[in-house]
Amino acid sequence: MRQKLVAGNWKMNLIYPGALALISEIIDQLGPAAPTDPVVVVCPPFPFLAGVGEKLPKGGTVHLGAQNCHQKESGAFTGEVAAPMLASVGCEYVILGHSERRQQFREDDVLLGQKLKAALAAGLKPIFCVGESLETREADDTFDFIGKQLKDGLFHLSNEEFAQVVIAYEPVWAIGTGKTATSAQAQEVHAFIREQVARAYTAAAATDVSILYGGSANAQNARELFGQPDVDGGLIGGASLKAADFVAIVRSF
Ligand code: PEP
Repeated sequence: MRQKLVAGNWKMNLIYPGALALISEIIDQLGPAAPTDPVVVVCPPFPFLAGVGEKLPKGGTVHLGAQNCHQKESGAFTGEVAAPMLASVGCEYVILGHSERRQQFREDDVLLGQKLKAALAAGLKPIFCVGESLETREADDTFDFIGKQLKDGLFHLSNEEFAQVVIAYEPVWAIGTGKTATSAQAQEVHAFIREQVARAYTAAAATDVSILYGGSANAQNARELFGQPDVDGGLIGGASLKAADFVAIVRSF
């Protein structure tokens, strides 16, 4: 069944005491009746995962995610982090295909396909990101571009594997820029993504998949974005670093 979900992508921010303080504030502000709908996920940097995980309430109202993983299960890959390592410290989710990784670390669809498989084999749920640049949008190529990202990056998965995936639509021009997609722009692309899923898999898979919006979402615009029929929540960057803003976004359905 389709789940609403809000995930905080802390990116390469904070040092350890600040990360522990942030998760404590988030948990305090969510309160004892923390929602299970939406599912709440925090994605701290690798070195903070275990410590942040230890702070999470035992009932599983806040879930742990990572921001990346390596495609191999283990081995001589100095400086890398494998999916089973993430699972072993309590991660349930992993962000893959974020535009910052596609652009700055040259992650292409072949590599992302391998990372998806590695994450799934370790029992992690991938949050797979797609999204067009401003240039692509202005050239009116958004749908072709996203269709290709889905086809090449994601749709090689089996039905069972795909059922574990969350998709995040993150227009590159909206990430960290303060320029949010309008709710109509987000809805249009989310509906397109759902249609592509129905074509590649089944109508039921399309109904069930959660599609998040990401790109300068904040406490002010989240309600309108999340009110769209095909927007199931958000992948939140900047605004996830302030507990009050993140919790307000979680409560925006
Ligand atoms: C992100 O990087 O996933 C993101 C959505 O960032 P921001 O909310 O800061 O635009």
